Amino acid sequence: MVRRLTPYTPGEQPKIEGLIKLNTNENPYPPSPKAVSAIAEALGDRGESLRLYPDPESGDLTQAIAAVYGVSTDQVFAGNGSDEVLAFVFQGLLAPRSDATPSAGLVFPDITYSFYPTYCSLYGIDYQLLPLESDFSLDLSKVAPTAHSVIFPNPNAPTGRGLPRDTIEAFVAARPNTLVVVDEAYVDFGAESCVPLISRYPNLLVTQSFSKSRALAGLRVGFAVGQPALLDALHRIKNSFNSYPIDRLAAAGAAASILDRSWFDENRSRVMASRETLTQGLARRGFEVVPSQANFVFARHPSHDAAALALRLRENKILVRHFAKPRINQHLRITVGTDTQVEALLAALETLTG
Ligand SMILES: *Cc1c(COP(=O)(O)O)cnc(C)c1O
Repeated sequence: MVRRLTPYTPGEQPKIEGLIKLNTNENPYPPSPKAVSAIAEALGDRGESLRLYPDPESGDLTQAIAAVYGVSTDQVFAGNGSDEVLAFVFQGLLAPRSDATPSAGLVFPDITYSFYPTYCSLYGIDYQLLPLESDFSLDLSKVAPTAHSVIFPNPNAPTGRGLPRDTIEAFVAARPNTLVVVDEAYVDFGAESCVPLISRYPNLLVTQSFSKSRALAGLRVGFAVGQPALLDALHRIKNSFNSYPIDRLAAAGAAASILDRSWFDENRSRVMASRETLTQGLARRGFEVVPSQANFVFARHPSHDAAALALRLRENKILVRHFAKPRINQHLRITVGTDTQVEALLAALETLTG
């Protein structure tokens, strides 16, 4: 069984002096200073708090998330990165049900977060791919009416394209027997969150991450928002696997971070402004850029091979992500960095494509 698994391949994290790292969609700025102080405080002078196990339910963090999103605490499930939350979602909610009437099973886009097929291979889940349109937009009306569940990121990865909340709501409302999971890892950079819908729809689950818009990828915290009946499955799996997935420092840092609204708004505005600079700079150098609502852009040059460009950029100590996959092997996914990093990338591309 284990030999047949195809593990997810994360973007590389090399230790190279002076590297400009635009390959894994990390935030280019440090996290909220309040998160940093909360972590130091949770640690204490001599780290004495670490003797003790953390709160198994991560109560303070769950409360902070619930307060910020205007939901109740029993509508929030926190985990060790949204990847862990998603793993529980696949195992507990997206796997075929033995009582189910014949259905088209689980559906997700052909171009999407590549952890989804990995979870399917891990848990033995069959799935159907829904091809994106030629402009990489997702047409939910093409999801088979008999699908028991569908999952997609909004905005999608690695394309950056998002769907309006109204479009998703219309779909969720029209398909009460289909579970709809919206992975909102990038939603804070300009898309519309579906969290405000969850009280009305028992078939909707939303996941979010602290890794991108809160600059805490190293802390590993993510969460799901949905009705308690759905979250019950996640609690059961969590409590059958690891009672304490979120450590004391992560819980303290994440709670302080989510309560710091002004840091959050300033950070995402800055990233969105740099995304504009990056998009326009790429367009001026002849790239076709997919409109992005995320902290990355997806772009191709009509006359320069993407893999070759990625390699040449690497020689210039700039890392971007290239996927050797059908339909997208001529695209590069470029994380929005600081303005200085964006300038360095554009200058390097000027030379390489000039
Ligand atoms: C980064 C990412 C995640 C995982 O986030 P973590 O909270 O760091 O585990 C989930 N979904 C998508 C689409 C992502 O890009």
